[in-house]
Amino acid sequence: MSVLDIAKGMGVTLGHLFKKPMTVQYPEQKAPVQARFRGRHHLLRHPDTGLEKCIGCSLCAAACPAYAIYVEAAENDPANPTSAGERYASIYEINMLRCIFCGLCEEACPTGAVVLGHEFELADFRYQDFVYGKEDMLVGVKGAKWQRREAAAKGKDVELGFTAPPRPELEGVDY
Ligand code: SF4
Ligand code: SF4
Repeated sequence: MSVLDIAKGMGVTLGHLFKKPMTVQYPEQKAPVQARFRGRHHLLRHPDTGLEKCIGCSLCAAACPAYAIYVEAAENDPANPTSAGERYASIYEINMLRCIFCGLCEEACPTGAVVLGHEFELADFRYQDFVYGKEDMLVGVKGAKWQRREAAAKGKDVELGFTAPPRPELEGVDY
């Protein structure tokens, strides 16, 4: 290797020293995600009635290539319905360790009940904490389980490490 080659190499290195960095100091700095980004699931409600959109049909579970979704349906009480259909999901679980965030569940859902949002900070400590139930996904729930545990212990709101762009179908979801 000649002196000229070394000088060329140093030139490239020095050139990069003065360029704007492509990385951010996460989690202190928060990079926005793209609108099309597929993160944690949300289960939506009808905005007018507040009834759950999910009717417990299990089409999302059938479409899931990772067998990550488990649904059990029950009949609605006509006097006090949970969903807008005849039945509702009495159990709705997604195993986030199996999920590959492909979005097929969202596409298969006939009522637009399950959607993939923008949250990606889903790391946790115990296996059971990766199984998300309705209480973790119904509209308005923000953050992964560990974030909610931490926020509750500090008496604070969940802080997410990203900026979510607007997505009309997720209107009302509190990111
Ligand atoms: S995003 Fe894909 S892998 Fe994850 S639960 Fe939905 S269908 Fe299954
Ligand atoms: S989320 Fe949609 S596809 Fe899945 S059980 Fe509920 S209504 Fe059916």
